[in-house]
Amino acid sequence: MSGVITAAEAPERLVDLVVERFVALHGRAPEGVFGAPGRVNLIGEHLDYNDGPCLPIALPNLTVAAAGRRADSRLSVSSLQQDGSFEADLNALGPGAVAGWAAYVAGVVWAARQKGIDVPGMDIVVHSSVPVGAGLSSSAALECAVALAVCAAAGVEVDGQVRRDLVEICGRAEREVAGAPTGGMDQTIALFGRKDHALLIDGSAPLRQIPWHPECAGLSVLVIDTRASHALNDGGYATRRAQCEQAAELLGVSSLRDAFDRSLRLDPIEDDVVRRRARHVLTEIERVRRALDALSTGDWRTVGSLLDASHASLADDFEVSCPELDLACSAARGGGALGARMTGGGFGGSAIALVPSERAGSIAALVAGVFASRRLVLPAFHLAPASQGGRPLAPRLVSG
Ligand code: ADP
Ligand code: MG
Repeated sequence: MSGVITAAEAPERLVDLVVERFVALHGRAPEGVFGAPGRVNLIGEHLDYNDGPCLPIALPNLTVAAAGRRADSRLSVSSLQQDGSFEADLNALGPGAVAGWAAYVAGVVWAARQKGIDVPGMDIVVHSSVPVGAGLSSSAALECAVALAVCAAAGVEVDGQVRRDLVEICGRAEREVAGAPTGGMDQTIALFGRKDHALLIDGSAPLRQIPWHPECAGLSVLVIDTRASHALNDGGYATRRAQCEQAAELLGVSSLRDAFDRSLRLDPIEDDVVRRRARHVLTEIERVRRALDALSTGDWRTVGSLLDASHASLADDFEVSCPELDLACSAARGGGALGARMTGGGFGGSAIALVPSERAGSIAALVAGVFASRRLVLPAFHLAPASQGGRPLAPRLVSG
């Protein structure tokens, strides 16, 4: 591995640091430490709000939450990634009551109580190796690590059904308390991710674990965090959503997924922009299907070309890429990637490239060189072996 690729901090190291901070702040050891990962979506972008599929993997990068119950009914939260701490009574945590990063944590506690979980007063300290704000879902990693800590504190055993409830709880926290529009993909993969598997999330169909082990074929997923963020972001997302709804309405279907299932043509849509938005959605659904087929036969070349085609569609038809994402993908391809695409909402954030493992370092260095030659902020690079979802990390500390 080359020097430009940042290795994910080992979970044990994150645990040691968060426990150290917890002891320094609260004068006692935490009762438990829980972790949840960031993610990248392999393919199926901007489909969630069109009832279409996505195929994320969990990253080795984790957010960890150390927690201990309190004698009173207050919640205190601190983060090694943020200055200051937050403290309030459990009854004062709802929408509008908490601002800033603590809203993600307070939101989980609030939504868990709304769901009937009897959360006691708690001290929570978090630490993370998920890059924040890079499109790698540090927000859901934070919510899900906290949600697991909340369950332990409330004496709730975490089985499959509880994990499904936590997806909903964390989604409510992000939408209603932190105020960020989000589907459910990030929370679902953070809680259901499995090592060497991607997770097929397809509307209301049961979740499907899809074997995803490119390392067996000498390949790796290289994540390129461009560190770019363009102001278009908020309005851009809402506009795309509205255009997709408009397209569905013009076609007389409830969602563009429905249009795909019925093999509808897009001719009735006269507006060129709206038609191109719909074309991205329909062709992307088809690409997810073809990727699943290719994966079932180990056809990594086809997987790579589908990543390229997904990027082209997101850039040309959906217009959610940006120069930095385009450059990261084209430079990675030029260095020998089998395929590359932007991942996440777009307008900045991260790209992924499927690369020969032994060339991951040189491809990353080449991409960095191209950015440097254009005087752009250098990207950060990470490897993304499909990793395990949310889990207890320090059961030795759990007292019951
Ligand atoms: P992404 O999820 O792609 O990283 P978001 O904008 O959805 O980007 O979420 C980032 C926000 O989540 C941060 O601005 C911060 O408020 C919160 N956050 C994420 N991780 C942490 C952390 N370890 N400590 C404190 N806040 C965090
Ligand atoms: Mg997020």
